[in-house]
Amino acid sequence: MTEVGGRIDHVRAEIAAACVEAGRDPREVRLLAVTKTRPAQTVREAYASGCRWFGENRLQELRDKSAELSDLGDLSWSVIGHVQRNKAAVVVDLAAELQSLDSLDLAADLDRRLEAVGRTLDVLVQVNTSGEATKSGLAPGDVDDFTLALRGYPRLVPRGLMTIALPSTDDREVAACFDELVAVRDRLRDRDGGGWDDLSMGMSGDFRLAIAHGSTCVRIGSALFGPRD
Ligand SMILES: *Cc1c(COP(=O)(O)O)cnc(C)c1O
Repeated sequence: MTEVGGRIDHVRAEIAAACVEAGRDPREVRLLAVTKTRPAQTVREAYASGCRWFGENRLQELRDKSAELSDLGDLSWSVIGHVQRNKAAVVVDLAAELQSLDSLDLAADLDRRLEAVGRTLDVLVQVNTSGEATKSGLAPGDVDDFTLALRGYPRLVPRGLMTIALPSTDDREVAACFDELVAVRDRLRDRDGGGWDDLSMGMSGDFRLAIAHGSTCVRIGSALFGPRD
């Protein structure tokens, strides 16, 4: 087995253990392998170990890697970083999902391009639950209006919410971010009578805690592929 394969098995086991501990079904939690900065060969190794969802945050890098990996048919790309308007076409061409939606300008642009090619795009709305000014995402109080406005862009299919928690060694501070995302989700569900099922929260350092707090998608890079340069 490759080194990457071993790490994937290890992380899968940790996800399963965290689910059992939380009384949840491990099938509720999707593993998104974050392959930004990693070569296409690394994606291949992860694919060989059963990963099918891959996260990228730079569109040029996604374009290059996707071209190198075009022989892998059933792999899905998820965009997890800020999308500049001039790169919206790459999302429409290649991504199965956009987790970092936080702009109506971008939503309008994507919707128009999606309509032109006759497809829809699953989206998660990114919420800034840490309050850090450097993080993208909507303030929790802005999500209600934002998601109402999204109804004007029917080619975008809202699946849920995404957040990056505070990078803190204090679990209570990290958990407060996850709980905030759950609270926003519950509000949207009440308003809409359901939906918003996907909660993308948890990275290498905090995915076990995120699962305990209801995560349905963990975005994991360094725990699978080693530290980034
Ligand atoms: C890089 C990145 C991750 C993965 O981070 P690790 O700590 O390496 O697991 C997850 N989510 C987003 C949005 C990222 O940009």
